[in-house]
Amino acid sequence: MPETIFDAVVVGGGPAGYTCAIRASQYGLKAALIDANDRLGGTCLLWGCIPTKAMLFTAEIWDHLKHADRYGIDGVAEPKLNWKALLARKDDVVTRHTKGLDFLMKKNKITTFKGYGRLTGSANDGIHSVEVKLADGTTQTVKAKNVVLATGSDARMLPGYKADETILTNYEILKIADLPKSLVVIGSGAVGVEFASLFKSFGADVTVLEMLPRAVPAEDEEIGKELLRLFKKRGIDVNLSVKDTKIEKNKDGALVSFTDANGKPQTRQAEKVLVAVGRAPRTYDLGLDKTKIVPDRGFIMTNEWMETTEPGIYAIGDIVGGLPQLAHVGSMAGLVVAARMAGKFAKPVNRTRIPGCTYCDPQIASVGLTEAQAKEKGFQVKVGKFPFVGNSKATILDAHDGFVKVVSDAKYGEVLGVHIIGPYATEIIAECVTALELEATVEEMMFTIHAHPTVAEALLDGFSSVEGMAVNV
Ligand SMILES: Cc1cc2nc3c(=O)[nH]c(=O)nc-3n(C[C@H](O)[C@H](O)[C@H](O)COP(=O)(O)OP(=O)(O)OC[C@H]3O[C@@H](n4cnc5c(N)ncnc54)[C@H](O)[C@@H]3O)c2cc1C
Repeated sequence: MPETIFDAVVVGGGPAGYTCAIRASQYGLKAALIDANDRLGGTCLLWGCIPTKAMLFTAEIWDHLKHADRYGIDGVAEPKLNWKALLARKDDVVTRHTKGLDFLMKKNKITTFKGYGRLTGSANDGIHSVEVKLADGTTQTVKAKNVVLATGSDARMLPGYKADETILTNYEILKIADLPKSLVVIGSGAVGVEFASLFKSFGADVTVLEMLPRAVPAEDEEIGKELLRLFKKRGIDVNLSVKDTKIEKNKDGALVSFTDANGKPQTRQAEKVLVAVGRAPRTYDLGLDKTKIVPDRGFIMTNEWMETTEPGIYAIGDIVGGLPQLAHVGSMAGLVVAARMAGKFAKPVNRTRIPGCTYCDPQIASVGLTEAQAKEKGFQVKVGKFPFVGNSKATILDAHDGFVKVVSDAKYGEVLGVHIIGPYATEIIAECVTALELEATVEEMMFTIHAHPTVAEALLDGFSSVEGMAVNV
C-alpha cells in the first residue's frame, strides 16, 4: 500500500486540536489527529470547562432550592445533596460529548491515532514526520505536509508539593469521593474562584488565598472589588496579598499557613487544598529540540497566523505564548490555521476581542480593554456603569448584585471594553464581543433594540450610562 501523506496532522485532541482537524477536513484537506489519551476532548472536556460547568449547574439549582419558599415552592425546605449522583451526571455529560467527538472524527473522515506524538525534526522535501508511540507500545510514523501542535497544558503545583488525595489540582478535585467540609483554594483566577463558589454553595467552609492584591486579577479592578464584596457576603474567606503559603498535611487534611496582607502569620485547617495557580504548557517532551522552535518558558511563540519558527509547523491552544489559555482561543486559532493550510480567507485572533468568562456566583464576563489598560494605551476614557438592581429580569431571577461597566473612547465613542459581574454575564457577553468586532460606538449600541425583559437589557442601560443616560437607574 502506498504510504499515506496527510495534508495536516494535528498533535493533541483538545478543543484547539479537534476543531482544527475538523475544519481542515471541511476544507477538503486530508487530516489526521493524534491524542495520547484514550478519550478525545483534552482538559476542556475531560477535566476543565465541561465537568466544572456541569457541577456549577447543580450548585445553581441547589442555591435556588435553598430559597424555594421565596419562589412559591413549598415542601423542599430540606433538600439532600447526592454527591455521587452529582459526579455521575457530570461524567455522563462528559461521556456524551467524548462520544460526539468520536462521531465527528468519523463523519469528517479524520484518521485518529491513539498515542503520544513527538516531532522528529524539520521537513524532508516538504514532508514532516511525527513519531507516535501507540498505546500497545509500538511506534508508528505519521507523515504530513503540515503539523499542528495542540498539546495543551498541565496544572501548575506549588514548588515542593505533589498532588495527592489532600492537595488537589483541577484533575483530582473532580473525582473526590465525598464532599469536603472545608477547602482552601490557593489562587483566585477563574479556576480557583469557580471551585470556591461551587463548594461554598454545597456548604463547605471555603478560604481563598491570593498572592496579588486583587481577586480575579486578570479582570477590571472594579470587578475584582465587587467579587471580593460578594464572596465575603456569601461567607467565603478571601485573603489577598498573601505570602509564604505552606501546606502541612495532617490526619484531618492539611494545615495551610500564610502571611496575610498586614504581615501577620495565619493558618487555616482544611480537609482539602486546591492548588489553582495557573497552567504550564505541555511542550517538554514533544521533540522541539529537534526543530528550530525554541520555547519561551515552555510556551511556543507564533506569529499572528500561529506559525512557529519551523516552516510547516503551527502551534495552537494553551501551549502558545501571549494568548490567554482558554478553550475558545485555542479553537479559534485552530480555525485560523485550518484556513491558512487550505489557502482560504482567515482573520488572526485579535487579543483585545477575546471574551473571558468565569462561572462562579456571581458570574463574571469581560471583553476588550479594562479601564486601566485603556488609559495606559492613551485613550481618553469615558466609562459607564449600570447596576443590575435596575434590571427587571434580574429582579425576577432574584439576582440584583453586580453591574455592567462599559469602557469607551471619548473621542470617537468606540466601545473599547465591557466588564460584567452578575446574572447570565457569561451569556450576554456575546453581544459585546460582536460590538467590539464590528467596532461599534456607544451611540450605535444605545440604539440597538434589546428584548424585554432580559438581562441583556442591562447592556443597553450600560452603554447609555456612558452618556449619563441609563433609563432604569
Ligand atoms: C478547571 C478548569 C476549568 C476551565 N474552564 C474553562 C472554561 O470554562 N472556558 C474556557 O474557555 N476554558 C476553560 N479552561 C481552560 C481550557 O480547558 C483550556 O484552555 C483548553 O482545554 C485548552 O485546549 P487545548 O486544545 O490547547 O489543550 P487541552 O485541552 O489540554 O488538550 C490537549 C490534548 O493533547 C493531548 N496531548 C498532549 N501531549 C500529547 C502528545 N505529545 N501527543 C499526543 N497527544 C498529546 C492531551 O491528551 C490532550 O487531549 C478550564 C481549565 C480548567 C483546568
